[in-house]
Amino acid sequence: MKMRFSVLFFIVAILIAGCTDEISDSDTSIEEDQLTVVATYSVIYDIVKNVGGDLIEVHSLAPIGSDPHAYEPLPADVQLVTDADMVFYNGFNLESGNGWFDKMIETAGKSEGESNVVQLSEGVTPELLQSGGQQGEEDPHAWLDVQNGIKYTEKARDALMESDPENELAYKENAEKYIQELKDLDEEIKQKVSEIPEEKRFLVTSEGAFKYFSSAYGFQAAYIWEINDENEGTPQQIQSVVDLINEKAVTALFLESSVDPRSMETVSNETDVDIAGKIFTDSLGEPGEEGDTYIKMIKWNVDTIIDGLSD
Ligand SMILES: [Zn+2]
Repeated sequence: MKMRFSVLFFIVAILIAGCTDEISDSDTSIEEDQLTVVATYSVIYDIVKNVGGDLIEVHSLAPIGSDPHAYEPLPADVQLVTDADMVFYNGFNLESGNGWFDKMIETAGKSEGESNVVQLSEGVTPELLQSGGQQGEEDPHAWLDVQNGIKYTEKARDALMESDPENELAYKENAEKYIQELKDLDEEIKQKVSEIPEEKRFLVTSEGAFKYFSSAYGFQAAYIWEINDENEGTPQQIQSVVDLINEKAVTALFLESSVDPRSMETVSNETDVDIAGKIFTDSLGEPGEEGDTYIKMIKWNVDTIIDGLSD
């Protein structure tokens, strides 16, 4: 649906551009001025959109609800990336499953060294992976700590200002407003979390996506598998988290919107601990539903986690 809309938009843009040329020699139509931007998944789509506003047209490659670790680009995606003025990606091993992102950037004739291919996690202090053959490499899920969301916003702002200096002030103002909202959100989370006793702050999810969140907000985290790149939900992984849940007397489990639910259901059955709710990690919620922006997904997660752990 979104794709068809983009194609339609493209055709309309060509028609308008054609008309403009006939009327005058001016090349300043709004459509031509708008930067075309591609983001690898919905979370950074939203952050970049908040900074770019109407000055940019953004498209997210991995659709909402899907897993950006191992996305399979469509031919149309490669075309979008080829035509894009800028590409924003997370980095830190997020888009590395099957090497899809590297391959696509190469096919599209771009390069990760260029200033218009922007790694938003640059500047973040990485948490490191501990298993799955990727020991010592960066864990991708930095955005789940809102302070890192602020760093992503600053990075997006600087890159947009550099690519489109004419609109420098607008990007600066948009970013400033958004960063203030993120600072308020960060405060709100710290306040809410302080109301649950420390020993109850134990977060069990399918993927180990909560390292940054846990160190920022004072949780302990456990998971079935560490990162969506590896085997997900092997009997050994399930047994080891079941043992931990029993040992720590964990009272709630959480299930991400972008993973296969079956492993967590098995863990729930084997421990008799309920899945307390759905949370968002690698994708926003569907438009119009819960968690459909970065700020809303974080709020939803925190409320769901606190509710689940308070029972
Ligand atoms: Zn993930």
